Amino acid sequence: MLKCPRCKESTDKILNEWNYYIFHVKNYHCPLCNKNFKAYFKDGKLSHIINNSISTTQSTTQRKIIGYLEHHEEANTDEIAKALHLKIIDVLKVLQKMEKRGTVTIIE
Ligand SMILES: [Zn+2]
Repeated sequence: MLKCPRCKESTDKILNEWNYYIFHVKNYHCPLCNKNFKAYFKDGKLSHIINNSISTTQSTTQRKIIGYLEHHEEANTDEIAKALHLKIIDVLKVLQKMEKRGTVTIIE
């Protein structure tokens, strides 16, 4: 069971799953939102969640960070900042904003 990043409703409806790079990806469906989200697992543990429908109002920085999260095995703020030539504080701000909106779930 995973919580939908939009409405926080738990769902165990997996539409499909596949391996992506070092991740095992599960495409979940939330019956409440009637929308899907992708959960990325690494070594059997949840790494991060990405909403399938990404808001068009997001900033370039957000898009870059999402792109990074989709293509890298581990994403800590330090690495994201270095890779994208951003300041750590800016990465943190954007990640926090994204987490509030439910675009990304950050797992320690
Ligand atoms: Zn939902």
